[in-house]
Amino acid sequence: MTYANIILPLPLEGYFTYGVPETLAPRIQPGMRVSVPLGKSRMYVGIVADYPVNIPDPSGNGCGKEKKIVYRDIVDVLDGAPMLLPRQLRLWRWIADYYMSPIGEVYKAALPSGLKAEDGFRPRTELYIRLADRFRDGRTLTLMLDSMKRAAKQVEVLMAYLRLAGVDGMDDFSPSTPLREVTREELMNVTHASVAVVRALQERRLLVTYEKEVGRLNSGTASHPERMKPLNEAQTEAYNQTIMQMMTHPVTLLHGVTSSGKTEIYIHLIQKAINEHKQVLYLLPEIALTVQITERLQAVFGSRLGIYHSKYSDAERVEIWKKQLSETPYDVILGARSAVFLPFQRLGLVIIDEEHEQSFKQQDPAPRYHARSAAIVLAQMYAGAKTLLGTATPSMETYYNARQGKYGLVELTRRYKDLQLPAVEVVDIKDLYRRKMMTGPFSPRLLAAVRDALGRGEQAILFQNRRGFAPMVECRQCGWVPKCPDCDVSLTYHKNMNYLTCHYCGYTMRVPEVCPCCESRDIRGRGYGTEKIEDEIRNIFPEARIARMDLDTTRTRNAYERLIHDFSTGKSNLLIGTQMISKGLDFDKVSVVGILNADTMLNYPDFRAYEQAFMMMSQVSGRAGRKGRQGLVILQTKSPDLPVIRQVVENDYRAFYSDLLAERHDFHYPPFYHLIYVYLKHREENTVNSAGLELGSRLREIFGSRVLGPDKPAVARVKTLSIRKIVLKLENGIGYARVRQYLRGAMEAMLKDRRYGALQVYYDVDPQ
Ligand code: ADP
Ligand code: ZN
Ligand code: ZN
Repeated sequence: MTYANIILPLPLEGYFTYGVPETLAPRIQPGMRVSVPLGKSRMYVGIVADYPVNIPDPSGNGCGKEKKIVYRDIVDVLDGAPMLLPRQLRLWRWIADYYMSPIGEVYKAALPSGLKAEDGFRPRTELYIRLADRFRDGRTLTLMLDSMKRAAKQVEVLMAYLRLAGVDGMDDFSPSTPLREVTREELMNVTHASVAVVRALQERRLLVTYEKEVGRLNSGTASHPERMKPLNEAQTEAYNQTIMQMMTHPVTLLHGVTSSGKTEIYIHLIQKAINEHKQVLYLLPEIALTVQITERLQAVFGSRLGIYHSKYSDAERVEIWKKQLSETPYDVILGARSAVFLPFQRLGLVIIDEEHEQSFKQQDPAPRYHARSAAIVLAQMYAGAKTLLGTATPSMETYYNARQGKYGLVELTRRYKDLQLPAVEVVDIKDLYRRKMMTGPFSPRLLAAVRDALGRGEQAILFQNRRGFAPMVECRQCGWVPKCPDCDVSLTYHKNMNYLTCHYCGYTMRVPEVCPCCESRDIRGRGYGTEKIEDEIRNIFPEARIARMDLDTTRTRNAYERLIHDFSTGKSNLLIGTQMISKGLDFDKVSVVGILNADTMLNYPDFRAYEQAFMMMSQVSGRAGRKGRQGLVILQTKSPDLPVIRQVVENDYRAFYSDLLAERHDFHYPPFYHLIYVYLKHREENTVNSAGLELGSRLREIFGSRVLGPDKPAVARVKTLSIRKIVLKLENGIGYARVRQYLRGAMEAMLKDRRYGALQVYYDVDPQ
């Protein structure tokens, strides 16, 4: 008997060992999917991680006392060839180890659902028709047609079929005449005949129908690819430097201001990789994968480009996955985070656009991996493959690595056609609030600027940060605020639908009419969500054509694309939105951008608050005045004297970076220290409390003052579970792998304690 280690889609550590029956042994290979039993009656689709593997002698050493391990057998091998190539399996293992997440969780994140179930993927089929074999001969067919004189419609349809099939005469029509394949739909479109006519021809046994698999992926754009745009001088220089830097560095940063033409440079690099018969993975944050960038790449690369992200159907994703394994894979994959898991046979270049974006890090569920790190690791598995990180506002870690010489660095400081950067005007709203000169969240200056822009036929964008602005309802009499029964958070108010939801667990309720505390009926909304801003701005500018873009208005792919389309064609002229609007959009007529409140971003209790705020403000500002005129940004804040505000105004990334770097150094944060957050969860507050204290002191024995906590996180109860958090700050070079190993060991030892049986543990490595 031989054995295999199998990965199952379960949040449990390690592999599951199964026996491989002799009948299956010749077919099984690592990376294939297998069907295996687990427990009393469940079957799972597992992935073969290793085959064959040695197992401890199941018969023991002869004293007969050990418990005999009985391995169950694999029931079936589901694939004829591996679904995962060896490098993809290696990436899974790296993620599981580095991010301290069971490999089963990696499996769940990596594969499209259609590959996770035995019959999860149904190929799309289409109905075809063909001439029955015994009529594939001119003489027989003519005789048949003669006998059908009274069925004129049928004759007409049959003749139409023959034309579509490429038969151009009865005389030399023979069994060896090739017939083009014809779908039933095609035939009906040509003849305007009903299904009944085709059925009648089937009943006469003239026509036969059959089903055939057809792909969902459209390849229609293949035919007329556009040529690449030639690069200008500054861009050519940056392109050449990038190639030079990539020769000597596995990772290179292209730091180019917004609209400098980074995307055009990527396009040239992609073309170069294709010429060298290499594949390219181009990663973007989910939300930036808009029509705009997709169309630009599609125009140049046509059907060589595959697009992979969560708004595509699962079946489409399965087909892309399979195509990647075929003899004609895509040359370029444009995708969001999860595209890093796709199989590549000859990867040569990875581009991570908007590399500073936090959304490259998966938050929940596990694995909490960073797609930028994962992609760099992936590229390093392919000989000679390089990674290019691109952004106008590099993350601290990336810029630090570049300045240290670990990454190559290319800087592009001129905008294409020397477009001017927008002028940023700071408005001190603290003072204005005191003097009661604000209209809701709008300063007189902002309203005037918007009014001017709309009056000139231009457009404006109003940006409200999502964080800290969730609207709530509140009882005006006693101050009661509805909270989630299962989490320590107040419920978010959705005004249009008049309901409240919990953003942590999804709990939903209607807004109560009467306050449960004081029975007052005076329950009203509070806070400035985008929805409320929309209402207020409508009162101020009743003529404006207002659109709102946030999580609520963009649930579907189409909704999102329509909003963008309407704004870029001018159907709407005032766009209100959250961070979403800052990503990779390129509008021509936006002359004013309003940042409604910088302070919630800056005051957010997180060590990345300044970094995030700077980037967000710079990126949002970049939407103003892109073609032909200088844009205006109105930045509203209660703390106009903060250095970071000045750095945004002056677009001074370097100053921002060196200020923040000093701070990160002094307070032991990245890029000088790695962070690991350990979260403990339990139904009982007391249990999680003592578990936290115990783990904290165990870890302190080894790591001393590198351990902080346990503390209650900002939201200390989620889905009825109480939470404690321990933070590890680990200086570079400490021997990170050994730390993780020790952490796992300490955790295992603790979980052996019966009191902690139901304790849930998870890690967030390199938290964002
Ligand atoms: P970035 O990615 O740096 O923000 P883009 O590549 O989106 O900049 O360029 C901004 C705009 O300028 C786009 O509309 C792009 O098509 C145009 N552009 C940039 N470089 C060129 C070029 N060499 N030729 C023609 N148009 C260009
Ligand atoms: Zn009340
Ligand atoms: Zn909740």
